[in-house]
Amino acid sequence: MASPRERNVVLLGAPGSGKGTQAERIVARYGLPHISTGDMLRAAVAGGSEMGREARRYMDAGELVPDEVVIGVVRERLTEDDAREGFLLDGFPRTIDQAVRLDALLGEAGRGLTHVIQLEVPEDELVARLAGRRLCRACGKSYHVVFDPPSREGVCDACGGELYQRADDDETTVRNRLAVYRAQTEPLVEHYRPQGILGTASGGGKLPDEVFEQVVAILDSTAS
Ligand SMILES: [Zn+2]
Repeated sequence: MASPRERNVVLLGAPGSGKGTQAERIVARYGLPHISTGDMLRAAVAGGSEMGREARRYMDAGELVPDEVVIGVVRERLTEDDAREGFLLDGFPRTIDQAVRLDALLGEAGRGLTHVIQLEVPEDELVARLAGRRLCRACGKSYHVVFDPPSREGVCDACGGELYQRADDDETTVRNRLAVYRAQTEPLVEHYRPQGILGTASGGGKLPDEVFEQVVAILDSTAS
């Protein structure tokens, strides 16, 4: 399907799984463009393409952008020059329907996914990570009260701003967010497993370096 040089990668991970950190490292090591649905939609809106204008209508109305529009934006993005030799998709696909349509649009271009990486972290650990998270009001930098505390409690090391806890990081809300994620994602895992492209990196109790070693082992393994 894909040419041997291509790495066409999807990264799956729950909130708190360290997906953002691993995505940054993958992009740095393999030189892949980091394509996140949120970034794509913002870029399409800013660029004023037809799809971007359509996406904007939903976003301005505070509604979820429909699959049709998201797929259109992904399709446009994947045909850009920097994505020809590979890409890292982050935050997409989220549903089976999106996954099926992604397979189809890659197939039309004679391409296919080469790796789907699942970051697996036990739910209790995700809850502990998210519930201890604090963010800077001024610059957005993220801390953790246990794992990554600022040098002065409640104050951002980078800019001196005030740290706060996001409303949706309290434990009940976190468990709900994780339940939603699992309901959507477990079927995706079962969609990709039979294709022989699914690799799982275990993030439970592990440092980002240890997780990244597993990610590299997956990405360096020969695909399909
Ligand atoms: Zn700050």
